[in-house]
Amino acid sequence: PPEQLDLAANRSPVFYRDQKRSVWANINRIEDAILAAELGADGVGLIRTEYLHGSDANLLGLHEETALYEKIARYLHGLPVTVRTLDLGGDKPAPQLHTGLLDQSMLGLRGIRLSLKDPSRFRQHIRAILNGFRGVDLRLMFPFVTTPEEFAAARQLVQEVAGRDNMPVLGMMLEVPAAAFALPEFRAEGCEFISFGTNDLQQYFFASSRTSNDTSHLQNPCSPAFKRLIEHTSKEAARLGLDLSVCGEAAFDPRLTSFWWDLGIHALSVPPALIPWLKHRTQTLGGA
Ligand code: PEP
Ligand code: MG
Repeated sequence: PPEQLDLAANRSPVFYRDQKRSVWANINRIEDAILAAELGADGVGLIRTEYLHGSDANLLGLHEETALYEKIARYLHGLPVTVRTLDLGGDKPAPQLHTGLLDQSMLGLRGIRLSLKDPSRFRQHIRAILNGFRGVDLRLMFPFVTTPEEFAAARQLVQEVAGRDNMPVLGMMLEVPAAAFALPEFRAEGCEFISFGTNDLQQYFFASSRTSNDTSHLQNPCSPAFKRLIEHTSKEAARLGLDLSVCGEAAFDPRLTSFWWDLGIHALSVPPALIPWLKHRTQTLGGA
């Protein structure tokens, strides 16, 4: 196996494997970090860094971005954190970036595809995350990954910033159906966890835009077809030792709470306001 796997194997104890059925918070705004801590989050399963940058002007500079993360880390009082690298493009267009790269459509340059187009900007972004969350139990997550080659390229850029011996735990959003069938290859590239981004996974699985009301009826996370995709992926993940969480809206679909936990999902990550409800629901449902 590649050296990344050895590094991962030597890292212990890894926080996220210690706790079962964790309820984590999604953070879209800095205030969400305060809420997450106050409402009893076990950790943070998703920081949407692109929202923290604001919508119009250029992205934040290194120092501003670092300071923002330091602030979030302070608010979280030591909770473990999963930070997603910039997920621009698609439903979060960034016309100010990458002039000349016009196709930022849902099937175009978005998420990690866009980040890989500008390595120096991506390295700066990684530096801000690593510096801002220094001393925090940190997982770094890439969005909208399609191929193991993309994961490897992103990991390489992280390694250039972090150095081989200081690599954070790396993982990815599972949002593209093709990725669900390539878990062994992702694992071989050093991926240690996956988080189902069901908002996008549904969009691409059902070929039904997440921003169109006309086709939203086609997206059904409770359908046998979608559940089979999830079940297949979860079994593969368990076999490969990949940690599993969910951070899309299906994580707080009350019809699916038992489904997720029974699959062996380790954590459900939801908007902070829903944490008490989901914890209570999880206790009430009981089980393993
Ligand atoms: C998702 O796609 O499910 C997700 C959590 O990411 P976002 O909604 O930010 O695309
Ligand atoms: Mg998404």
